[in-house]
Amino acid sequence: MSKRTRFFKKLAKEHYTILAPDMLPIHFELIAGVLRRRGYNFKVVSPVGRDVKDEGLKAIHNDACYPALIVAGQFMKELKSGQYDLNHTAVIMSQTGGGCRASNYISLLRKAFEKEFPTVPVLSLNLSGLEKDQSLPFTIPLIRQLVAAITYGDMIMTLYDQALPYHNREEVEKAKVKCIETLSAIGGTRAFLKVEKNTAFIMEQFKMFPPDAERKPKVAIVGEIYVKYSPYANNNLAEFLRDQNVEVVYPSLTEFILYCIYNIINDDKLYGKSPLVAWAAKKVYKYFLKKSRKMNQLLIDSSFSPFEDFEYVVSEAEKIISTGVKMGEGWLIPAEMLAYADSGITNIVCAQPFGCLPNHIVGKGMMRPLKRMRPDINIVPLDFDASSSQVNQENRLKLMLANLRR
Ligand code: SF4
Repeated sequence: MSKRTRFFKKLAKEHYTILAPDMLPIHFELIAGVLRRRGYNFKVVSPVGRDVKDEGLKAIHNDACYPALIVAGQFMKELKSGQYDLNHTAVIMSQTGGGCRASNYISLLRKAFEKEFPTVPVLSLNLSGLEKDQSLPFTIPLIRQLVAAITYGDMIMTLYDQALPYHNREEVEKAKVKCIETLSAIGGTRAFLKVEKNTAFIMEQFKMFPPDAERKPKVAIVGEIYVKYSPYANNNLAEFLRDQNVEVVYPSLTEFILYCIYNIINDDKLYGKSPLVAWAAKKVYKYFLKKSRKMNQLLIDSSFSPFEDFEYVVSEAEKIISTGVKMGEGWLIPAEMLAYADSGITNIVCAQPFGCLPNHIVGKGMMRPLKRMRPDINIVPLDFDASSSQVNQENRLKLMLANLRR
């Protein structure tokens, strides 16, 4: 038995509580359901408030990336709350394995925990072979479960975003909670893998909340993965926009994951990196793409808007940037913006952590070529960090909203 398998068996046997950040509240609850079934007591934590940022600033240098600071702050606040046995608690963080600083958040967290929480291990969730002894072991059955969780998460997220601007909030919330509770209760079981049945169940909960025939103006949110999705990190950006009477459109998490897998395949094509890894990546890519297409078909059949097809997004990238650009969110950001504009959503918020060099190049830095191709595009780049002023952000958003295009 490998050192890693022994380590994770110990965590399950001793009922460790594993805390995970709440970047995507819907998806992470479903993933937690899958992992709970494997014996890990998984908990998605979502403390908010100014003190989270202060805790993060105490633990991590303010030059480090804002998402790292937020995650550290949330973990610190949670661990200090006194509700955990610190000898049986761990935290988990995802790693993309790319060249960006996100691959090193784990080391920052370990350093931050050294003094105050030396007994709390920092675990990794990655598919790149990093942190060999302390990364959650992936098996094919687990990958299938996670693909299902992400597919359901994407579907619930988009149905919720499309229903909310046109229906009673309480009822739409109820439908969302019912989907999350029902599906996370069967996470990790065979029933969870019955994608057709489960997506039909999700659709059933939302079918009474179709968007009006006359849709409100749509605003897409793209950018760095943490700040675009996490409501705490982006000062409730989606809620603010909805209050301004627009419909918020998010790209799927599947799209980001397909982007990561596509880059692995591309690395082999461009740099001859590893044919074996590329071969395995192609299999996962095809599996994921097929699931996302089925989900899109279901959305179309029920009069909801689908996500952009990933291969269409890649074809859009090829018009404007090399798909070899892959630091941070790389080519995905301009490709998403162009894909949205070409399919009629020209109002876009591009959310970035302040000082995030790669995403400023592919986000803000690509605005001019994008405007040359699509003069009607209405983009606002927004920076987020621990000291950024919400009023400033809202003023910039209002300027963008003043030029709203249908
Ligand atoms: S993409 Fe930006 S925020 Fe994310 S790790 Fe890289 S530099 Fe940091």
